[in-house]
Amino acid sequence: MENEPRDVVIIGTGPAGLTAAIYASRANLKPLVIDGGQPGGQLMITTDIENYPGFPEGISGPEMMGRFRDQAARFGAEFVHGSVNEVDLSRSPFCISLEDGQDILTKTLIVATGANAKWLGLPSEQKYRGRGVSACATCDGFFFRDSHVFVIGGGDTAMEEAFFLTRFASKVTVVHRRDEFRASRIMSLRVEKNPKITLELNQMVDEILGDGQKVTGIRLKNVKTGKLTEHGCDGVFVAIGHAPNSKIFERQLNIDEYGYIETAKTSTETNVQGVFACGDVQDYTYRQAITAAGSGCMAALDAERYLESIR
Ligand SMILES: Cc1cc2nc3c(=O)[nH]c(=O)nc-3n(C[C@H](O)[C@H](O)[C@H](O)COP(=O)(O)OP(=O)(O)OC[C@H]3O[C@@H](n4cnc5c(N)ncnc54)[C@H](O)[C@@H]3O)c2cc1C
Repeated sequence: MENEPRDVVIIGTGPAGLTAAIYASRANLKPLVIDGGQPGGQLMITTDIENYPGFPEGISGPEMMGRFRDQAARFGAEFVHGSVNEVDLSRSPFCISLEDGQDILTKTLIVATGANAKWLGLPSEQKYRGRGVSACATCDGFFFRDSHVFVIGGGDTAMEEAFFLTRFASKVTVVHRRDEFRASRIMSLRVEKNPKITLELNQMVDEILGDGQKVTGIRLKNVKTGKLTEHGCDGVFVAIGHAPNSKIFERQLNIDEYGYIETAKTSTETNVQGVFACGDVQDYTYRQAITAAGSGCMAALDAERYLESIR
């Protein structure tokens, strides 16, 4: 156990955590940043990021996150490998326990543990991820101009993704395993009325088909009759929800019914004074690198102001 409490500990090294680290280190707070199982976060599995400002030619996820990390290290952020498996936020300084048994004390905590898209669990889905299979229309829709894409899911997210994709694709097919959508009536109606969108109800994905390099089609299975049908397509967007990485904070931080950490309306404050949350773990709505980075900046400034107030 480190005896002296840290000023700032940041959990997570995606865009939110690393931006918080840049700001906290430049404020001379010497943040300790904990990597977790996916150093660099979700963008480490992305080849092309074309919507992050400052990179007109686009940039790969690993390269961008490497640059974020170098920038934080340059100003004195320290990094620790490993995952946090327990936190005690019941008294200050807070205690952060790593899986290797190490305990770290800190006066403020920035939670930037992100979220993971839920996947169908098919090996073919993993094989073609980034090569026709995506979980983010905002990120990848642009690459599917004039093509036929499938959207899997029946909730509001799936409806939004399908609607958004009609800006690029010539045809969008929504696949849902029930005969009615879970999405709100207004969203479902918008989708049903869109001439570019067709529906495949009572269907589940049996297999994503490809030529070894990219997606070429999809095989669906009718959940009522068991009948298999194959359809040609260029892309498959899986929109069955996200799982925020908030489990270790349960019963200590306020978490909504979908697992997102609740923060104040105009800041990153949580229900525990001195604990701030940023990025996808608290953002149901936007889930983009730029918004994660923006809220990481906010969390560092909020932590800095809080430390001032208790000095
Ligand atoms: C395939 C794909 C492509 C995408 N493309 C784009 C794009 O082109 N443009 C765009 O703007 N957005 C894109 N996104 C969305 C973007 O990646 C996320 O919005 C962004 O990464 C969220 O950042 P974050 O820092 O909140 O969390 P994440 O990037 O999810 O990082 C979370 C971090 O927390 C760590 N962590 C989690 N649990 C623990 C724990 N218990 N202990 C310690 N550490 C922990 C992880 O190891 C990781 O380092 C894409 C997402 C995916 C999946």
